[in-house]
Amino acid sequence: MDSILELKHISYSYHTPEGETRALSDISFSLNNGEFLAIVGPSGCGKSTLLSIICGLLDPEKGFIKLNGHYHQSADNLIGYMLQHDHLFEWRTIYENVILGLEIQHKFPGLTEKEKCRANELLKAYGLDKFQKARPSELSGGMRQRAALIRTLLMEPKVLLLDEPFSALDYQTRLNVADDIGQILRREKRTAILVTHDLSEAISLADRIIILSKRPASIQETIRIKFDLENDTPMLRRNAPEFKNYFNLIWKELNENE
Ligand code: ADP
Repeated sequence: MDSILELKHISYSYHTPEGETRALSDISFSLNNGEFLAIVGPSGCGKSTLLSIICGLLDPEKGFIKLNGHYHQSADNLIGYMLQHDHLFEWRTIYENVILGLEIQHKFPGLTEKEKCRANELLKAYGLDKFQKARPSELSGGMRQRAALIRTLLMEPKVLLLDEPFSALDYQTRLNVADDIGQILRREKRTAILVTHDLSEAISLADRIIILSKRPASIQETIRIKFDLENDTPMLRRNAPEFKNYFNLIWKELNENE
């Protein structure tokens, strides 16, 4: 399988007047095209630092990153984000919000015909067709996250970084939205990295889970996730017999980490 992202021996420390904080230690992994990777680990271990390095906001102290076969240096349009807050603008309609990323990328308002077709296709496929003229406040939390995802998908990033994207939602909405977004990403065959502290969420969504040690984070364990399901959706995974086994396995790893 093609590797889209490759990290080799990444280390990073923060240097402040108070001293040095070692955040990452010798992290290496690669991600295949279309793969969904989840990263879990104790709070403060270095997960956000790792994402910042992947998207080029921080330069690794040691090691290198290759994105799409090239040495990667800056945050460019190869990487897309989905964050805890959807960052939709109330002064723009849903349609205007979903095209915003492309407009910024083009540095001019409006879209090409091809992009317009794709925007309409995604809005229709993911149930927002009738809400194109609505304002974000008229939508449910789940619909807003879907709009935020469409905005990101339209930019055709090679890798999507999901940083605790559902944690601002209440529990029930969170389950539904994770199910929804997980299915969209699979259908669109997107390569994604999810950072979460929620084990169940990681197991329900990922093809592979990396467990990080406590700070400075190193890779403690990598677990491949495979469910014997005809229709492999996050919600169906949660009810499958393998789910509990994965949960116990990862729970044990994380506690050995303590
Ligand atoms: P996580 O996302 O796993 O909670 P972070 O990557 O945010 O962990 O942080 C890892 C460590 O680096 C923590 O000890 C944190 O306090 C420290 N840290 C994060 N950002 C900075 C910064 N800008 N300056 C100094 N230390 C930082």
